Amino acid sequence: MRIGIGYDSHRLVEGRKLILGGVEIPYEKGLKGHSDGDLLCHSIIDALLGAAGLGDIGAFFPDTDPRWKDADSLLMLKSIVNTISEKGYLVVWTDAIVITEKPKLAGYINNIKESISSTGIPLSSVNIKAKTNEGMGFIGKGEGMAAIATCLLEVKT
Ligand code: MG
Repeated sequence: MRIGIGYDSHRLVEGRKLILGGVEIPYEKGLKGHSDGDLLCHSIIDALLGAAGLGDIGAFFPDTDPRWKDADSLLMLKSIVNTISEKGYLVVWTDAIVITEKPKLAGYINNIKESISSTGIPLSSVNIKAKTNEGMGFIGKGEGMAAIATCLLEVKT
């Protein structure tokens, strides 16, 4: 068994779609980023890469590379799930928290889980949670969002 952790944060700005786990969520702002800014996918990618000992997201999808401009992060996650599978790992469990003051995400959690399962991580192996930051700091002020993810990999026999 191998365990990994991932973290990501992005600024919330006007004029961008809000995409979390590949699901578009109606909101007045979206996440700024070189890609689509999907910090949930980015944190899961880093957790998977951490568990597999393969470094971090920047090594696979550098934000200086025009190929990843406005990229669909769900496809980036799918490619990493393929990579770790080829390296002989099976995703046993993924748990993640999205931390944001607004919008409320409870009604979108099932959609997000289904979307993430389209990358090859089984639906029965994904848990997604949402929390606020109790009004504190950059998240509390609505300047940005963050996500933390963990995952457990098993070496395939
Ligand atoms: Mg990111």
